[in-house]
Order: sequence, then structure tokens, then C-alpha cells
Amino acid sequence: MNLKITLKFIWLFTLVLLLGGCQSTYQSAPAPEIYLTEVKEMVYEPDVIGIQSMIETYDTYTSSIHYPVFGYQNIDELIYDFIQNRHELFRQELAEVIEANESKWPLELHMEYEIVYQTPRHAAILFKERKHLGSAQPSVNTFTFNFNFDTDKQLTLADLFENNAGYLQIISEISYDLLTESDLIPSAVDLNWVKGGLSPHEKNYSNFLMKAKTLVILFNKYQLGPAFIGTPSIEIPYESLNAYLPLKESLLNNFNGKIPKLSSDPLSSIDLEVANVDPEETETTPDSFYKKRIAITFDDGPHPIYTPIIVDTLKSYDAKATFFFLGNRIGDYPDVARHVRFEGHMIGNHSFSHPQLSRMSTEEILNEVVKTQNIIENATGFSPFLMRPPFGAINDVVMTTTDMPMVLWSIDSEDWIYNDPDYIVNYVLDHAFDGAIIRLHDTLPNTTQAIGPLVDGLISAGYELVTVDELLGITKESAANNLRSFTRALK
Ligand code: ZN
Repeated sequence: MNLKITLKFIWLFTLVLLLGGCQSTYQSAPAPEIYLTEVKEMVYEPDVIGIQSMIETYDTYTSSIHYPVFGYQNIDELIYDFIQNRHELFRQELAEVIEANESKWPLELHMEYEIVYQTPRHAAILFKERKHLGSAQPSVNTFTFNFNFDTDKQLTLADLFENNAGYLQIISEISYDLLTESDLIPSAVDLNWVKGGLSPHEKNYSNFLMKAKTLVILFNKYQLGPAFIGTPSIEIPYESLNAYLPLKESLLNNFNGKIPKLSSDPLSSIDLEVANVDPEETETTPDSFYKKRIAITFDDGPHPIYTPIIVDTLKSYDAKATFFFLGNRIGDYPDVARHVRFEGHMIGNHSFSHPQLSRMSTEEILNEVVKTQNIIENATGFSPFLMRPPFGAINDVVMTTTDMPMVLWSIDSEDWIYNDPDYIVNYVLDHAFDGAIIRLHDTLPNTTQAIGPLVDGLISAGYELVTVDELLGITKESAANNLRSFTRALK
């Protein structure tokens, strides 16, 4: 059954509501302006199962929110509502910051998730939210969800037990023993603080993950002691719980059984050699030497539906493009990434989960970049040497840490704002120039529709569509000598 639910959320309404009263503060402000002016409609498509990404850029904030869709209606709606609520809360908090009017714009909401454990009937998910609302340090929150696919419902801790009378008392006592026996709680910590944080109340055990043989419990900052103990977590074996209170056998059975990995064989049967275009052949024809060149680039993919359509369209025009992929999305759609490379397009690194890298530490930046390099390499056999920083957010730390040339753009199609494919086509054709880098997104239906007429128009205008490395004259070997950003200065 193909179920389609339209979930509407009224952007304009909430923006006007939240920010409308703050207009007067803009007069002396650096420049925060809200320019989103349309009502957006989000369509839930359960046939697209896997990671979903909502990425937005405004003058006042950026958001990158990733969440999974499993194809179970209640579970998917629950996750979606959760995401919307966090987003809305952030925008309310943002409205207050805008009123206070002192910050490094744009501020940021970043949410990523990890499916910590999954079987055909069960999933345990950890969301990590990171908010920059003007203070020096981001605020970091974690949220957990455990789902039963048989019932299409979220699991509570009490669901684990046959008869759950007194279950929190048992968990509390076991947690106390585990924590005090471990080195997670140094002896200097006041044990009354620990006991308070472990008292048998639901709120103290709201973050948990049900894995195969253990229950993981995550504690918040300050829950068990001062800041320096951080956010400890413990694993309680089901066996030790079962000794006190019988657990539901039927549920434990759900925690067993492996789900097949999306793509176990990274290079499969595709001969990647075909992807290597012989540079000499294309360079020496006088025809291409005199041609104007332009590079189309796509961000935020791969997308399981739109990216393959775009690649097919490009193929029909014999055009090449550059795809800056997100590591966390390739994790779900590695075959799409492999296909893009197979068709001879360039693949670049767009980070793992689309944060503003310029707000991150060296270690955090490296984690985003290196993880993505490895994922791309595993999926496609190709190791990228070009980087597009999310939101174009770069500073010296980002530049020196990533060790790759930063490819920005000269023409931003703003395809994520304008739903009309004709508008995108006309805007880009009107602004096209020799040597330009065009920024699009292969995650959007409007862009997918626009790409045919756009490529057609550019070719008719005399452009050759090349990959961005070809446009900039960067090779894998020369990339290390080009550690800078390529921007409008190209003009
Ligand atoms: Zn992006």
C-alpha cells in the first residue's frame, strides 16, 4: 500500500508570528533579515525510505536536520513531529536572540542521528542536537527513540517488563551499583548528587537504547555530578534485570536478527575504470579549447530518486557535473553515489552532516571531513580532493584543517527557495558567464525538473559543461597546492 500523507507546516505564519514584532531592532543591527516569504509544504513519501535531510539557509540562521524514515506511518510521523518541535523551539529561542541583537550571524541548528541498533522488528536511535544561539559554546542535547516495527509504536522503558511494578526502583539500584563500581564517577563526586540523579523517576531515565543484550542508559550533563563528569552512560545486561523482574520474552526476540546491510560489497560489479575520462582526448580538440565553460554543481545529495534522474538527464546531453555529497546520506544510498561516479561525474566532499564547520573545533571538523572521505571511497572507489563547506562557511581553521581546495560558487540558483523550475532555469541562464560555478541541489524535485531545460539552454548559449576540477584546472596532484577557496573572485 502506498500511503501518502501531506504534512503541512506554515513557515510564513510562524515567522511572521515570531519575528514580526522585532522589525524595529533591525535598524541598528548588522544585517539580519528574514527573506523567506512562502508557505512550504512538506510531502511525506514513505516510498523514500532512509535518511531525509532538511537544510535551510537564512540570514539569521542555518539549519541542517537529518532524520530517518522507516516506512511505518506512526513511527515516521512521530519522528517528524519531534523534528518539527525541535525546529520550532529553536526558532522561538532565535527570536529572543534577534531581539537582543548581538551575535555572529547566522546562528545554527544542527541535528543528526545514529541508528545505534536495528533488527527487522526493532530500532534504537540516538539524536544529537547542537544549537548555536549566540553564546560561545553550543548547547548540545541528546534524544533517544526505540521503536517496535511490529506494532508501529515507540517503546517505553516499562514495555521491557512482563509486569512493570517497581521497575524504576530496580533500574535505579542497578545503575547506582554499576556507576559507583565504574570509574565514571570519581570518588570526589558527592554521592548524594549521584543518588538524586538516579532516583526512580521516569525523567531520570528518559534517554535509553534497547540493544541486543543490553539496555543502554544515557545521563544528562549535571544529572549525576558536576560538569567534569560529562554525560555518562551505562549498559545494563538484560540478564541482570531479569533476575529481579521478568522481561517480556516476545520483545527481547525483536532485538535479535540481523538486517541486511544496504551495500555490503563496496565496489560491486561495476567497472569503475570506465569512469576515468581520458583528459588528453578532451583537451586537444580545438573545438573544446575555444568553448566557453561552465560547471554545474550539486550539493546535499545523494538522493535515491532525484540524483539518478539528474544523472540520466546529464547523460542525454553528454554533460558532466560535480556532486558534493554528504557522508551520512551516502551511508543510506551508496549505490546512487557509485552510479554518479560511474557516469564520469566528479564527486566532492560536503561534510558528513552539514554543520557550519566554521563554528567547530579542529577535531570536530576533521571528524566530519575524514568520515565522509572514507564513506565516499568505500562507496565509489574514488577519493575526493575538493571540498564544498556547508553554507559556504569557512574560516582559517576550516581551511587549514580540511586540506582540500574549497569550492564555493559564483551563481546560486537558490533552488531550495524557488519551487518553480522555470524560475531556476531563467535565473541561471540570465546570470551565466564563462568560468562560472553554478550551485544547485540534487535533493529537490524542482531542480530535477529544471536540469533538462537548464543544460539545454547553456549548451545553446555555447557553453561546455565540465566538472569543477576541470574548470579550475585542479587535479588530484595539484589540489594540495591549491588550498584556498574558489569564489566569485573567479569572475
Ligand atoms: Zn549543502
